[in-house]
Amino acid sequence: DHLANQIAAGEVVERPASVVKELVENSVDANSSWIKVDIAEAGLQEIKVSDNGSGIPHDQCKKAFLRHATSKIKNETDLFHVHTLGFRGEALASIAAVSRLIIKTSTGEEAGTKMVLEGGHVKEDGRSDARQGTEITVQDIFFNTPARLKYLKTVHTELGHITDIMNRMAFSHPHIRFELTHNGKQIFQTTGKGDIRQIAASVYGMAVAKQMIPVEINTLDYQIKGFIAKPEVNRAGRNYISTIVNGRYIRSIGLAKAITNGFHTFLPIGRQPVVILAITMDPYLIDVNVHPTKLEVRFSKEKELFQAVEQMIKDALHQQRL
Ligand code: ADP
Ligand code: MG
Repeated sequence: DHLANQIAAGEVVERPASVVKELVENSVDANSSWIKVDIAEAGLQEIKVSDNGSGIPHDQCKKAFLRHATSKIKNETDLFHVHTLGFRGEALASIAAVSRLIIKTSTGEEAGTKMVLEGGHVKEDGRSDARQGTEITVQDIFFNTPARLKYLKTVHTELGHITDIMNRMAFSHPHIRFELTHNGKQIFQTTGKGDIRQIAASVYGMAVAKQMIPVEINTLDYQIKGFIAKPEVNRAGRNYISTIVNGRYIRSIGLAKAITNGFHTFLPIGRQPVVILAITMDPYLIDVNVHPTKLEVRFSKEKELFQAVEQMIKDALHQQRL
């Protein structure tokens, strides 16, 4: 089973950013209103995720590190019918298998738990003080899988991936206060007050956030809401479109294209729009078989959705020009 853990780990834990993603998702699932991520050397040295969520009861903590141990669901295949982000029960086991991991957790109702694991083996299992919440420290990731370690890019690249994850988490959970520090220096912070424009300011800077226009439209099946930056504020190169469906950050090539089409005549060639769109819809209209972990989705009534989005953006940009 130890070997099975190592193999599974390779799928879940690709790089430091995947550890951050899994741990932060767990903190979200635990109903935290505050989540802090401290990393050292882009996570290669250390990743610490602290939250003020439910905590794990002492008698369940060891079990949480077993593969397929999930307290969340039993037999669910459809991601979007699940209210929690995690449900496979693989993350903690996988992360522990390739690192040295320290967990301090408490429900606030009993003495807390402190456990230390190395390469998936429990080295210490005791009690700790009882601030409600969980703090997981992951050190020396991939120490026992040097091939994986070698494949990682520079600190700069890995830090970029981590920042991306945090930005997405912030946009899809505006009511959670997020903090990110790197080597002791704060690089990202949100207020948790639900203000998307404020989050845009943290992600893209105040200058961009000030140039964002609110957009909103309802169709029969879709409730679409968000912010688009005025065309003057655009970017080159990679993608600056954030799409969230029912509180989950997703990717959809069709949706991104509808957004870009909406900007079509307004944007210089080769420039990318800055957009944040949240869509609320019946989960049954989402096709999730595409690739659950990559969060690539398809919509059943995509024509209706894409046309509405494109038109909404065109209208907003026309309006703004007048
Ligand atoms: P999953 O999230 O798919 O259930 P994980 O391996 O990520 O599986 O986590 C295993 C279990 O550990 C979770 O189901 C949850 O009960 C518990 N857990 C993990 N992280 C936290 C946390 N930050 N706060 C409270 N419980 C947690
Ligand atoms: Mg999880």
